Amino acid sequence: MDKTQNESISLKGNPVSRGIAAGRVFWYEPFVPDIKECHIEAAGTEAALRKYEEAVAAARKELQDVYESLKEEDEHRAGIFLAHMEILEDEMLDEEIRSAIGESLSEPGWAAERVYSNYAKLLGEMEDELIRERAADIMDVKNRLLRCFQGVPQRNLSRLPGAVIVAAHDLLPSDTATIDRENVLAIVTEAGGATSHSAILAKGFGIPALLGIKGLKDALGREEAATAACEVPGEMRAATAVGNVLDEAGAGVAVVDALDGVLIVNPDKDTREHYFKRLGKWEEEQRLTREFLRREPLTKDGVRIEIGQNIGSAAREALAASGYTDFVGLFRTEFLFMEKESMPTEEEQFVAYCKVLKAYGGRPVTVRTLDIGGDKTLPYLEQEKEENPFLGNRALRLCFENPCLFKTQLRALYRASVHGKLQIMLPMVGGMDDILRAKQIIGDVKNELAAEGIAISQDVKVGIMIEIPSIALLADVVAKEVDFASIGTNDLCQYLLAADRMNPAVASYYQSYHPALYRLIGYVADEFQKAGKPLCVCGELGGDRLTVPVLVGLGLRKLSMGGSSVCEVKRVLSKMTVARMEELAAKVKACKTDQEVRDLCEKYMENTLGND
Ligand code: PEP
Ligand code: MG
Repeated sequence: MDKTQNESISLKGNPVSRGIAAGRVFWYEPFVPDIKECHIEAAGTEAALRKYEEAVAAARKELQDVYESLKEEDEHRAGIFLAHMEILEDEMLDEEIRSAIGESLSEPGWAAERVYSNYAKLLGEMEDELIRERAADIMDVKNRLLRCFQGVPQRNLSRLPGAVIVAAHDLLPSDTATIDRENVLAIVTEAGGATSHSAILAKGFGIPALLGIKGLKDALGREEAATAACEVPGEMRAATAVGNVLDEAGAGVAVVDALDGVLIVNPDKDTREHYFKRLGKWEEEQRLTREFLRREPLTKDGVRIEIGQNIGSAAREALAASGYTDFVGLFRTEFLFMEKESMPTEEEQFVAYCKVLKAYGGRPVTVRTLDIGGDKTLPYLEQEKEENPFLGNRALRLCFENPCLFKTQLRALYRASVHGKLQIMLPMVGGMDDILRAKQIIGDVKNELAAEGIAISQDVKVGIMIEIPSIALLADVVAKEVDFASIGTNDLCQYLLAADRMNPAVASYYQSYHPALYRLIGYVADEFQKAGKPLCVCGELGGDRLTVPVLVGLGLRKLSMGGSSVCEVKRVLSKMTVARMEELAAKVKACKTDQEVRDLCEKYMENTLGND
C-alpha cells in the first residue's frame, strides 16, 4: 500500500475487465446468518416473544417497501416479495416458533432458524415441483428474519444508492448477476481471480473490474470512503461526467484503473488530472476498436476465424452480439438457475432456450448443461459442504446425482431444438465413462419425448467441454466419440497447474500463459483436426488479445468470448497472417515460463497493433 502525504492511497489489483472509472465507493457486506443452538430461562419467554414479534414487524416492513418500490416497474419481481410476506405471516410457522420459544425455551433466533429450516427441508423433499420451489422462498424469508433479529440493515446490489464503485471482500456470481447495471461504475474486490465467474460476468457487462486487491477494506475504511452516502449523479460512466468527479476534491472518491491494475482511493490533484487525460486516450482506443464490430473476422491474409459469443442469459442485451457473431459458443445456463429463487421449470427453460435459438436464426447455439458447484451454488439445491468444491461434486457429476434436474434441462433443450440449430455441451467431463453415461440419459430423454409425441430436431450435436487434463490427453479417443468440443481454458488452467482459480493466495500459480497449457491445447487441436471434428476455445483465453494469435497459430479456427471482447479480437486478427501466428505458437510452445510467454505475446502484439 502506498500512502502519500495528502492521504491518497494506491493499491494493486488484477484488472479482469478492462476500463477506467471514477466515483464514490459503496462497500457491500452480504449478510450470512450464523445461528447456534441457544436456550433461555423460563422467566425470559415474554421478552423473547416480543423480540420475535419485533423482528417479524421489521422484516414485514422491509418486504412491503421493496414490493412498493418494484410493483410499477417489474410486477414479476414485486410478486416474489408479496409471496414472502405471506410466508412471514403463515399461521403454522408462527405458532411453531412461538411454541419453540414458550415451551421448549428456545432463544427466538434459534427457534426461527429451526422451524423455518425444518419446513424448507420438508418442502424440498416433496414430489410436486411447485411445492419444492417454495423451499427456497422459505430460506430467503428466514435469512431476512434472522438479519432483522440482529438489527443488521438490509443490503443487496440490485438497487445501488446512485452511481458508485462497488467494493466488497468478494462477490458471489449471483451478486454480480443481479447487480444494478445502471449505477455500477466499476467493481473492486479483495478476493476473486481473473476467471472467477464474477469476473466473467463483469467483463460480459462491460463493467471495469479490479479483483484480488489486498487491504481493500482497510484502505476504504480508513479513508471513510465506504459510505452509502452517494449523491453522485447517475451518468458518471460517460467520460465528461467521470471528468467532473475527477475535478472534485478527492475525499470519498476513488479511481479504478482496470488497465494497469491500480485502485487509487482519494486521488490527489495530479492523479485526477493524469486520469482525466488517460480516460481520453482510452476512449479513443475504444473508438478505434469499436470500428471492427461489424467487420468480417479475417486474418491479415484473409483466413476466416469463426467468432462465437459466450452468454449467461437469454436477455436482449446478452443477445445483442448476435448481429456480429457467428454462433453461441457457450451459453452458461447455470445463471438461469442462479437468478431465480427456485428451480426454473421445464417450461421456463424452454422459453429461454427458444429465445436464444431464434435470435441466432439457424446459426449454432451451444448450450452447456448445468455447471453448478465450485464457486456456483443454488440456494434451493442442498449440497454437501466440500473441502475442495472445484474438485468435488460439480457440473456433470452433480447432474448425474440429480437425474431429475438433468432430465428436466435436457427435455427443455430437445423441445426447443426445433426452433434453431442446437448443440448440447457437457461440462466437467473427465473420461469416456462420463460421455457414455450422459449419452445414455440423453437417449432416454429423447425416447420419452418421442413416446409423448413431442417433435425434436434430429440434428442436435452433442459435444463436451475440454477442461480436465485427463480428457484433453484422450483427445484422439474422444474426438471420435463426440460431435464437437470446446476448450474451457479457465478450468483447464486450474486443473493442469493445480491452482484454485478463486483463491487469491495461489493467484500467482494460476498462470494462464504457462507454456504447458499451450502444448496441451496444441495436442487437442491436432487430434480434433485429424478426426475432422470442430473444436472451439470458449474459456477467457479465447477472447484475450494476447493469446488469440497463439490459439489460431495452434490450429483453432473457432473462438468464443464475452460480447465485449469481439471488436478487439477482430481487430487483432486483422493485423496478423496465419503464418505469423503459427510462428508465434511454435515459439510459445518452446518457452520455459509464463512470463516468457507473456513477454513474447506482448512483443508480437506491439509490433502488430503498432502498425495501425
Ligand atoms: C472454462 O472453464 O473455461 C469455462 C468456459 O467454463 P466456466 O468458466 O464457466 O467454468
Ligand atoms: Mg469451466
